[in-house]
Amino acid sequence: MSGHTKFPNLTIVDHPLVQHKLTILRDRETSTSKFNQVLEEVALLLGYEVTRSLKLTTREIETPMVPMQAPCLEADRMVIVSILRAGLGMVGGLRALMPTSFEGHVGLYRDPTTHEPVEYLVKLPAVKEGRVFIVSDPMLATGNSAAHAVDVLVDHGVSRSNIRFMALVAAPEGIERFNRDHGEVPIFTASLDDGLNDHAYIIPGLGDAGDRLFGTED
Ligand code: URA
Repeated sequence: MSGHTKFPNLTIVDHPLVQHKLTILRDRETSTSKFNQVLEEVALLLGYEVTRSLKLTTREIETPMVPMQAPCLEADRMVIVSILRAGLGMVGGLRALMPTSFEGHVGLYRDPTTHEPVEYLVKLPAVKEGRVFIVSDPMLATGNSAAHAVDVLVDHGVSRSNIRFMALVAAPEGIERFNRDHGEVPIFTASLDDGLNDHAYIIPGLGDAGDRLFGTED
């Protein structure tokens, strides 16, 4: 795991398994079913790092041998918030890691001309003190959708200190944009790519994550 000098809130998860799986996802020859499977696997591995800062408390238990004060998570549960639709591809991995988590959805599509996010759905579990919200979208490209999704959480009363953003691949332009509004929200990614092309796709990237997940490419 490595931090970034230009973006202090960015963590690049450079674990060999993550990097190996990212290459499979980038490869245009990877099938839809394989893409789904591997994206879930990477989400679990990224989730391991995203949750590293979760607060612990202790509770009294009895092992078969003795009573003890044993560590347990302080918050009652996590919330996984996927940005539709591609964020759905990361939920399975996060759920495997945190089976009791709740799920929220923010539905956004990107206006093809302005590249600005247009919101069509917001459905969130209750916001409770200390509850951590992990926002997931495989592609942090322009940063507009990412920033908008965090705006939605903040408007619902979630403190930025309880939000984490998780992306498979990020573009520097996107992180700059995100940080203009939410620089204190930690971002976790497997790769900081070179940048965006004229259509706001990440280069080298992996193409349209939603299309690759759901087989909607023509
Ligand atoms: N969304 C995608 O799915 N891919 C990109 O490269 C950028 C945004």
